[in-house]
Amino acid sequence: MRVFTYESLPSRVVFGAGTFATVGDEVSRLGAQRVMVFAGRPERHLADRLGRQLGSRMVDLFDDVLPHVPIAIAASARARASEVRADLLLTVGGGSTTGLGKAVALESGAPILAVPTTYAGSEMTPIWGLTEEHRKTTGRDPRVLPRVVVYDPELTLTLPPALSGASGMNAMAHCVEAAYATDCPPVTRIMAEEGIRALAGALPLVVEQPQDLAARSEAFYGAYMAGCAFAVTGSGLHHKICHVLGGAYNLPHAETHAIVLPHAVAYNAPAMPEAMARIGAALGAYEPAIALYQLARRLGIPAGLREIGMAEADLDAATELVIKAIPSNPRPIERDPIRHLLDDAEFGRRPVTDLAPAI
Ligand code: NAD
Repeated sequence: MRVFTYESLPSRVVFGAGTFATVGDEVSRLGAQRVMVFAGRPERHLADRLGRQLGSRMVDLFDDVLPHVPIAIAASARARASEVRADLLLTVGGGSTTGLGKAVALESGAPILAVPTTYAGSEMTPIWGLTEEHRKTTGRDPRVLPRVVVYDPELTLTLPPALSGASGMNAMAHCVEAAYATDCPPVTRIMAEEGIRALAGALPLVVEQPQDLAARSEAFYGAYMAGCAFAVTGSGLHHKICHVLGGAYNLPHAETHAIVLPHAVAYNAPAMPEAMARIGAALGAYEPAIALYQLARRLGIPAGLREIGMAEADLDAATELVIKAIPSNPRPIERDPIRHLLDDAEFGRRPVTDLAPAI
């Protein structure tokens, strides 16, 4: 019999090619008069386009965006927001830019209008993150959930293939972990599986033909589903491993997700055959861990963590950090299998599962 709790999160989503031109109208709908725009320097051209839509309502542009929201940058953005009396925080960029807007909203309570340009999914979640001395702290707060999100796939046409593939696999990880989370409510499960289907179909096209707007649109749709699913279910084994490795060894966020995901799925597969069958169906494959590994290869993502800066000598210490970080998991967390998981991820081996043993 079904038993679940589901809290739907209040946000307005505007999706479609060309919708960037409607951001000014969305600002009017919110009644904002003092808009502080957040855009990293590479996204400056988008901030300029916003300036033309907003006119004198754009009171500031904050472009000091760095990965993982360093606390010093958050402090300076918060000071600026208070100085310019911002009544709306408008973020345009990837997860790092959205994250900076969230850091300000967490303190000031000003609403966020988010315009994502990657597949990270942060725009749909009430999850914030701040980094101090290499330690990232995360939390949940309804104040940081963007009030409005404008998804315009045209803005993703410039995302290079390597970033597109890795960022898309970050979204895939949100969907996969939601799809196997034991507390995943039914509607979220449907979204997670829909996201898996959309991403698995679109990402190879996006990487092979970056200017294919239909494929970009489908990948962005998958990323939207991923953000919705992650917002409800949060972190499981896979996200915890990536969080620990990213923080302790300064690994790039999206690539770490793309490399670890097949191995985390292989670890959990024996404990959840029913969920694996559903994920497999969404991927169009019999064995999800192998399908995700092959997808990442097709997207040209580095196979192993060693290729993105993880030293083999740190794997024992990393195992201990991972074990400490995971309070519970469908399959019990055991030291030797976790060490194996990290070893396979380090060297980019094809994951070994019950259904696909080592050959
Ligand atoms: P990012 O925001 O750091 O962007 C990566 C790079 O891509 C940057 O150099 C940026 O300038 C460039 N870029 C962005 N959009 C582009 C475009 N359309 N064309 C060309 N270049 C573009 O990376 P990300 O992967 O989007 O975000 C990662 C961050 O988001 C991490 O800090 C992660 O923890 C966070 N995150 C948070 C949540 C949440 O719910 N809070 C969810 C997912 C990710």
